[in-house]
Amino acid sequence: MTHPAQPKASHFINGQYVEDTGGAEIPVIYAATGERIATVHAATPAIVEQALASAKAAQKEWAKMTGTERGRILRRAADIIRDRNHELSVLETYDTGKPLQETLVADATSGADALEYFGGLAASLTGEHIPMGEDWVYTVREPLGVCVGIGAWNYPTQIACWKGAPALACGNAMVFKPSETTPLCALKVAEILVEAGLPAGLYNVIQGMGEVGGALVSDPRVDKVSLTGSVPTGKKVYAAAAADMKHVTMELGGKSPMIVFEDADIDNAVGGAINGNFYSSGQVCSNGTRVFVHKDIKEKFLTRLAERTANAKLGDPMDENVNFGPMVTENQMNIVLGYIEKGKAEGARLVCGGQRADMDGYFIEPTIFADVKDEMVIAREEIFGPVMAVLDFEDEDEVIARANDTEFGLSAGVFTKDLSRAHRVIGALEAGSCFINSYNDAPVEAPFGGVKASGVGRENSKEAIQHYSQVKSVYVRMGDVEAAF
Ligand code: NDP
Repeated sequence: MTHPAQPKASHFINGQYVEDTGGAEIPVIYAATGERIATVHAATPAIVEQALASAKAAQKEWAKMTGTERGRILRRAADIIRDRNHELSVLETYDTGKPLQETLVADATSGADALEYFGGLAASLTGEHIPMGEDWVYTVREPLGVCVGIGAWNYPTQIACWKGAPALACGNAMVFKPSETTPLCALKVAEILVEAGLPAGLYNVIQGMGEVGGALVSDPRVDKVSLTGSVPTGKKVYAAAAADMKHVTMELGGKSPMIVFEDADIDNAVGGAINGNFYSSGQVCSNGTRVFVHKDIKEKFLTRLAERTANAKLGDPMDENVNFGPMVTENQMNIVLGYIEKGKAEGARLVCGGQRADMDGYFIEPTIFADVKDEMVIAREEIFGPVMAVLDFEDEDEVIARANDTEFGLSAGVFTKDLSRAHRVIGALEAGSCFINSYNDAPVEAPFGGVKASGVGRENSKEAIQHYSQVKSVYVRMGDVEAAF
């Protein structure tokens, strides 16, 4: 019998599902059991061509519609997503292995928020009038054209919407390539957009590995590329896009600091560290994986952290009491286990976890290392799994310098009751998305993205509009033209 997660076909192009079994087979494995639940095929050159041609053909008419009309369709899609939240959350759990307890509140709902927010903004995208004496300049905010979105595997529904919603609101078309690891959810987003009234060709989803992404990025019809992925992939994609001067948004990895001062509320800081390391089993780019704790409260913090981490409930992700799921793939599990072994070998103190869980699926126990030193590999490299590194510090300037001593700059957090210190420290941290007495909130209203190697551009909020549109300026002369001859 066909598994309920099996999509109707591999791709969604020009308003409908399309199959081409000529492309390499991509098995979809449910991370909680290791069982194959679906199969899709990578896009052949013919599929890539169909997707780009339909996007190109549909975009101009879409851009001519009013913002109100475009926005209405996006908001309708948001409503459909909310109505079907349960079904979509189950699919997200099949795609990623993340527990239903999380996916019910963080994935389809976050996608719906993006569609609702950018749907609401669409009608307000205007230019400005600049008086120049009796002459004037006016500006027009125009779409870029055809945008390519390339997703990572940790938030397949959310990433498909975070890129699609602002692109469509601004009058662009999109071709989206999900990660080959999680190909299912974006197809549903495409299907729902069409059901909401999106004209055919404006949001296409095609499957494939890096080569398909590469073919999209280098096609001359493409005007913009938005990638969520690792820094090495980001560098390749940015370079390929630069060859044709394409616009880019790069949402890449991190090794973000979370700093807990001696006056912090310990339980809130522990809660922040748990959210910033163990949500989605640690597979979150903005995670605060270097937890700097003032040495005066270090043991108290670690004791409370270990007590609360013991409440993690590993198990069947479809059971809503389970709050901790498996790694997305066997390969990712092995990468993370490799880092845990490095941490042990480098002499960090294992406070809890530290191994694969004794059960089916790709589960790793939530793992905490204390006494971590800045130069250890587990404090320098992005692990993308449930591995928290706790480091000690004594002084504000020292911890700021150490927190900034990394190529990454996605996020940063500070826990303290001292208001001036909170703002002073956040002001000195080199990161794009920051938190005070909280960690990992990502509402659509707030800009999201990194500095340094963690990225270029911002997703969400009004900022995203700048990255999916461009400004035309028009000088209007009322009098005669003066010329030298
Ligand atoms: P990868 O960088 O491996 O892949 C990201 C996407 O790019 C995938 O769809 C991949 O395809 C595709 N791709 C790979 N090579 C190319 C290429 N040469 N040209 C075009 N596309 C290409 O990341 P992961 O999927 O492994 O995701 C984990 C990473 O994503 C982590 O490093 C994490 O930090 C980052 N991330 C960043 C976020 C942010 O917003 N800043 C959010 C979530 C994750 P395929 O995998 O199918 O081969």
